[in-house]
Amino acid sequence: MKFPLLGTTLAGSLPKPSWLAEPEKLWSPWKLEGAALDEGKRDAVRLAVAMEEKAGIDILSEGEQTRRHFVNGYMEKLEGIDFKNLKTVRIRNRYDANVPRVVGPVSRPKPVHSEDARFFRSLSTKALKFTLPGPMTMVDTLYDEYYGSREKLEILNQEALELCAAGIDVIQFDEPAFNVYFDEVREWGVAALERARRGVTCKTAVHICYGYGIEANNAWKKTLGEEWRQYEQTFPLLAKSSIDQVSLECANSHVPIELIGLLQGKDVLVGCIDVASLKVETPEDVARTIRAALKYVPQERLFPCTNCGMVPLPRDVAAGKLAALGAGAALVRKELVQSPVAG
Ligand code: ZN
Repeated sequence: MKFPLLGTTLAGSLPKPSWLAEPEKLWSPWKLEGAALDEGKRDAVRLAVAMEEKAGIDILSEGEQTRRHFVNGYMEKLEGIDFKNLKTVRIRNRYDANVPRVVGPVSRPKPVHSEDARFFRSLSTKALKFTLPGPMTMVDTLYDEYYGSREKLEILNQEALELCAAGIDVIQFDEPAFNVYFDEVREWGVAALERARRGVTCKTAVHICYGYGIEANNAWKKTLGEEWRQYEQTFPLLAKSSIDQVSLECANSHVPIELIGLLQGKDVLVGCIDVASLKVETPEDVARTIRAALKYVPQERLFPCTNCGMVPLPRDVAAGKLAALGAGAALVRKELVQSPVAG
């Protein structure tokens, strides 16, 4: 599928309706059970798609409405992982979390998201994105008692192949851990990512960010200094990789914007929406970020996006931000048509 010029998209998650899960909360438990929960999840996906189409978003996400969390939503369907007896560990080198334990060989007894993907495909003729946890972020959200080595757990490739076969246009691996463990990214992180996408014929993306606007992340960001140059370590590696697209944080960020110039040859999903703020951007705010990014990324490779997922935000704020994203991209598109700049 060919994407439109400055095709807008989102990092992944959207707030869930309050009848499905408690709003403005990560890991929020479901309010429904059994068949009612299945139906509720599908209805929430319908609403997410409607919200995005109304906002003029071009590459849609199902808003992660069928999952409680972007990592565990996948892992809890795997075998070899104990979700009952959790272990407290430091994750992302930043905060303590109770995580499941790897107690045996990890396997995927059946497809995890294929059915959700097929349902999502039936709702729209637009391009669709589906998110999966990246390999490094997945192991960073586990306590390993079996493999004894972080790079050994490989369980994403078959799932990615099946999502592609279900009609998904972009499969995005979320790798916030890539902003933390630079040596490991170099040693095995990018290679593991490439193995996860092996044979996949749709586009593949990786999302690397500074996290949701939650307290632990905000405190961590205060320690990062004036300029956030973490991307400088990973982007050159990704530029050489087989990954097609990189989704990054940009709006209101301390990331020096010229770092996106390190992603030559890749599609760049530029974060034009600050997910750590309740203030809804204006279309002009979004347009300004896009114009700034156009100095470093050719127009046919630039995709305006959100900085990260929006699950912790109030629903009306998320809707407003998406509408600003759609309208801001439309403003710049008009300028490019009127006075095209060389790509
Ligand atoms: Zn993110």
